[in-house]
Amino acid sequence: MKRTALITGITGQDGSYLAKLLLEKDYAVYGLMPRSTRYAFTNLDYLGVTGEVDYITGDLADEASLIHAVRRTRPDEVYNLAAQSFVAASWDQPLWTTEVNACGALRLLEALRNFAPRAKFYQASTSEMFGNCSDNGIQTEQTPMHPCSPYAISKLYAYWIVNNYRESYGMFCVNGILFNHESPIRGLEFVTRKISHNVAKIKLGLANRFGLGNLDSRRDWGFAGDYVEAMHLMLQQETPDNFIVSTGETHSIRDFLDAAFRHVGISDWGRHVFIDPAFNRPAELVALQGSSDKARKILGWRPKVSFEDLVRMMIDADLKRLLPGDAAHVE
Ligand code: NDP
Ligand code: GDP
Repeated sequence: MKRTALITGITGQDGSYLAKLLLEKDYAVYGLMPRSTRYAFTNLDYLGVTGEVDYITGDLADEASLIHAVRRTRPDEVYNLAAQSFVAASWDQPLWTTEVNACGALRLLEALRNFAPRAKFYQASTSEMFGNCSDNGIQTEQTPMHPCSPYAISKLYAYWIVNNYRESYGMFCVNGILFNHESPIRGLEFVTRKISHNVAKIKLGLANRFGLGNLDSRRDWGFAGDYVEAMHLMLQQETPDNFIVSTGETHSIRDFLDAAFRHVGISDWGRHVFIDPAFNRPAELVALQGSSDKARKILGWRPKVSFEDLVRMMIDADLKRLLPGDAAHVE
């Protein structure tokens, strides 16, 4: 019998990569799709898996739809990837961010507790929960958490309610604490994709300049395709546990710009980038660098795509999208 997986956030970056991975592993994949979806099939189409997923209309804000989805699919594994996932927007919509990210995770857990208590549950937790805490610059599973955005706080609630349902009800619930991960289908609002998209436009003569906020913050950027493998591995363990997923390397936004412009043969990127304070945040997470030693040891997971290869992959994909003949993507 095929194993059955229910993915929330199916239309997003990770949902699409995870659907592809699970389909390759011969799962029956169900995707929860909000009626008001922003992406619809764009990302799933990009990865060529749209037609192989079964879609169920539903929303993390709507408990009835989650109960319906769980009862209909009877999942072996549930991956809760849906979220208002953009940190900057969480200051504009703090209540909605909390409604979806915090209460949404709880709603889904309640649906599972009542209708599929043996399903294994993965929660998309985030390195944002650490805020500016670290152990000598490195975040581990033991590092204290001090979230510094409404997004991170909503995710911290979800993190703890997942731990609590594991401890209270013995449910198989895990948190993947994922550091930033990117790909050619990363949302255009995130800094890496904003850069790859604009650098491709500049290379093709379609734009000349673009604005960014803080160039000094540092992130531990990996490839989304590698990270969904860790999600799946977490649910194949004997006992549920939380794991950091990261590359262990940190780079600044400047480093990303250097690599991106270098790839298209432009050395003096200063004339193409201006500082726009509109992109500064009320509070900033300065630097992330995660230790994934536990995941490497217990899950046998490791990242395959390097920082330089990730940058190249994203730019090449954006160049391809923008070339004549595929002009629909030009903004
Ligand atoms: P995306 O923003 O690409 O995808 C988010 C998904 O959630 C979309 O499919 C979106 O649907 C869906 N969604 C939003 N609101 C609702 C709702 N109310 N009900 C149901 N679905 C909803 O995010 P990623 O794929 O990048 O990230 C996946 C998860 O991992 C998120 O929870 C994110 O917070 C978390 N995370 C991501 C990291 C990263 O670097 N990418 C790092 C750490 C954690 P649509 O837009 O179609 O409406
Ligand atoms: P985040 O780590 O989830 O917030 O991912 P983002 O890609 O949105 O932001 C990563 C870092 O890039 C943050 O420190 C931002 O402040 C910084 N940054 C600088 N300029 C920009 C910009 O124009 N857009 C975004 N999204 N981030 C920017």
